[in-house]
This record gives sequence, structure tokens and C-alpha cells, in this order.
Amino acid sequence: MRCSGYMMAGVTRLALLLAVLVSVVAALHAVAQPTTSVYLEDLTWTEVREATGAGKTTVIVPIGGTEQSGPHMALGKHNVRVKALAGKIAAALGNALVAPVLAYVPEGKSSPPTQHMRFPGTITIPDDTFDQTLQSVARGFRLHGFKDVVFIGDHGGYQKAMGRAADALNREWASTSVRAHAIGEYYRAATKDFPKLLREKGFKESEIGTHAGVADTSLMLAIDPSLVRVDRLHSAGNSKVDGVAGDPRRSSAELGKLGVDLIVKRTVEAIQRATTRR
Ligand SMILES: [Zn+2]
Repeated sequence: MRCSGYMMAGVTRLALLLAVLVSVVAALHAVAQPTTSVYLEDLTWTEVREATGAGKTTVIVPIGGTEQSGPHMALGKHNVRVKALAGKIAAALGNALVAPVLAYVPEGKSSPPTQHMRFPGTITIPDDTFDQTLQSVARGFRLHGFKDVVFIGDHGGYQKAMGRAADALNREWASTSVRAHAIGEYYRAATKDFPKLLREKGFKESEIGTHAGVADTSLMLAIDPSLVRVDRLHSAGNSKVDGVAGDPRRSSAELGKLGVDLIVKRTVEAIQRATTRR
């Protein structure tokens, strides 16, 4: 009796010791587990400092825009898309983080309303506010240890402004090794290369469209289908009336996935070319 009781106590002690060891190892593992998110907003300031210190010195500034995309796509199209794609691009680069999306961009005039401002929910800001915002954001990233500030934009209207902002920053930073880059390949891949691929698959120009057609809508279905009202897909009559230029009825997530892969590939290559050290 005494002997087996003693043995039982020994077994219990051993079990307890093992349990303690397992929990210590688990706790250490949790502490040591580095965060894998590329999104700046998911990190603490010390994690950002560690990231730049470890060579993650490229920051992608994803520029979206809040605008109408017909009765079948939500106003956040550009913002949701550019955030998701920037994340994939940063992951592929391996040395980049992603800044918060710039969702307020120039979209035309309010009075009288022009372009997408004729449709409820579209948001616009003045051109010079946009230019100043890009430059101010980039200066902050330079201050915090980033070496390459990369602008990618999901909307057409401000592509030239992105280039102007990068040029102004690079003049200002000429005596340093820090550079700003406006990567036009992102938008070109979405609006030229992806439509070309769709044409090769037999889609007509009138379907692919230029706004909220097959190209635009398929990309959205691949990235976040909750933003597409599939029961409202229709052939555009007058884009001035319904905001659709194209015919999105044959859109699909499968097609969109091809576009996503194309945009990510072209953009990654362009960023690598641009950031190769001089
Ligand atoms: Zn747009």
C-alpha cells in the first residue's frame, strides 16, 4: 500500500512536471511567434521598427478611391481591391509592408458635379490635397526608416499625380538613398493586360468595357464577391445614367483570378526593377 501510494505520488508529480513544461514551451512559442501580417495597421510600432531593421524597407502605399461602379458593385471596389492586391504583392516581394489604403481621392468636381460625382456615395477631394497627402505620407515613411516608398493606384484619374508626387519627393531626396516610385504597371496590368487576356478568351470589347464591365467585375468577384450584386448584372445602356461602361453579365471569379495573378506578377516585377539599388 505504502509503496504503491508513493509510486502514484511520483507519477502524479511527473505528470504535473510534464504539464508545466508543455505550457512553458507553449508560452515561449507564443512569445517568439513573429507576426506574419504585411499590413502596417496590424503591427505595433516596435514591430515596424524591427521589420525595417531586418530589411523590410519597402512600403507600398495603396491608393484606392470611393466611387460608383454601377448598380452591381459597392463603392469600396478600389479600396478593397488595392488592399488585397498590395498584400499579395508585398508577400511576393518579401521585403515590403503595406500602408493603410488611401480611400479619399480626386473624383471630379462637386459643383456642378462631374465624372463619378454625379452618382451618390462617390467622394472627391481637391487635386493639390491629394498631391500633398502622398508627399506627406512618404516623408513620414522616410523618417521611420523605409528606403523605398511605392505608390500603386487602382483608379485611373490620379496615375499622373502619383508620378508627379514621386518626382517631387525624389528631387527633395536627391542627396539621400531613399526613393519614391509611382508604379504604373499595376494599373496598366488591370486595364490593358487583363482585358487583352480576356479578348484572347473570346470576350468582346463591349463586354470587357472600361468601368464595371467584365474585367472590373471579375476582379471584384475574385477578391471579395460580397461587394458584387450578381442579380443586378446587366448590359450597360447609357453609362451616364447607370455608371456602367461594358457588359458584366459573363463576369466570374475564375476570370478575375487570372487578372489578380497577372496584376500581382507585373507589379512585383516592376517594383523589383524600380527598387534595385543604384
Ligand atoms: Zn475608378
